[in-house]
Amino acid sequence: MDAYFAIDIGGTQLRAGLYPADSTNPLVMKKISTRGKESAVNRLIGLISDLWPGDGFTVQGIGAAAPGPLDSKTGVIYKAPNIPAWKNLPLRQILEDHFQVPVTLGNDANLAALGEWRYGAGKGHHDLIYFTISTGIGGGVISADQLILGHRGLATELGHVTIMDDGPLCGCGQRGHLEAISSGTGIAKYVNEQLALGRSSSLPKDPPVSARQVSEAAAAGDPLAIEALQRAGHYMGVAIANYLHIFNPTIVILGGGVTHSGPVFFEPLHAALRSYVLSSMYLQDLVISEAALGDEAGLMGALVLAQSHTS
Ligand SMILES: [Zn+2]
Repeated sequence: MDAYFAIDIGGTQLRAGLYPADSTNPLVMKKISTRGKESAVNRLIGLISDLWPGDGFTVQGIGAAAPGPLDSKTGVIYKAPNIPAWKNLPLRQILEDHFQVPVTLGNDANLAALGEWRYGAGKGHHDLIYFTISTGIGGGVISADQLILGHRGLATELGHVTIMDDGPLCGCGQRGHLEAISSGTGIAKYVNEQLALGRSSSLPKDPPVSARQVSEAAAAGDPLAIEALQRAGHYMGVAIANYLHIFNPTIVILGGGVTHSGPVFFEPLHAALRSYVLSSMYLQDLVISEAALGDEAGLMGALVLAQSHTS
């Protein structure tokens, strides 16, 4: 029987699952830390070897989701957050040389989009935009059933578009990006800055608050926390209006911790969408949906990648 490996390379964990053909239920699944005595590459090879099936199964391919930036066409990881040794690492070549099966690599946010499209909230849609809004903002776009990759596989960095000239500093080093405003990091940073300026709030000035604390304080009615989430939702809506003009999707899927904040985040998002969109036609057949696969989205996308490159 044919089988496929799906790998999820995170900053702290390596996760691998072995799947039979046409199934999303793994035969085996294991996760280990990225850190240890051996290098992360050797730990990854060891993890896959541990799960390699015996007689009766033929591994047809390995799909791997990794944090970017990476070149999905050449399978080279330019840089991996939290794995400093991975610079210009030809991971696809390394794994193909070792295991002698086709290996495909994708950016984790892109693959989460692919996973949600094939197995999650986006099933049946042909044009889809996916966002994960957590510590950062990642995204992926499916257009006419194709994942958009661009020349070097670097396309659809949906969190790194300039939304506020001279705005707050983004994790990438640029200013005013969507991620710097609407991500969990951006939300917490805004609240901490306002507290330092002397704004009154139920939140403490010290130690610095987290996005989760802001979300909880907003639910309890704290005006500063509410303002921070409304601001994040508003700019998210402004950005989505821009993306609707570019991609004209039928579904926008939103995942990640910030989306659990509820109406305080979503009401200004919808209001901004309505006021910034060029024509109401963009909204007529549009579904705004929460993600269905949660933390499994990247792994499911890696599985789709493994299946589609070998079948
Ligand atoms: Zn940025």
